[in-house]
Amino acid sequence: MPQYEFFCHSCNRPFSKTLTPAEYKEGTVTCPECGSKEVEQRWFYAAADRRSA
Ligand SMILES: [Zn+2]
Repeated sequence: MPQYEFFCHSCNRPFSKTLTPAEYKEGTVTCPECGSKEVEQRWFYAAADRRSA
């Protein structure tokens, strides 16, 4: 199953999640840390660390 990268705007944490195609299509992704739906899909990790500096 494909794993997707996300970033939570509520707690400012990146996370990855494995979604079924159905779940992905639904778009009901929530943050595993705070349960927020304020999540944005990312396609790569590399840029994440640069923002905090
Ligand atoms: Zn969060």
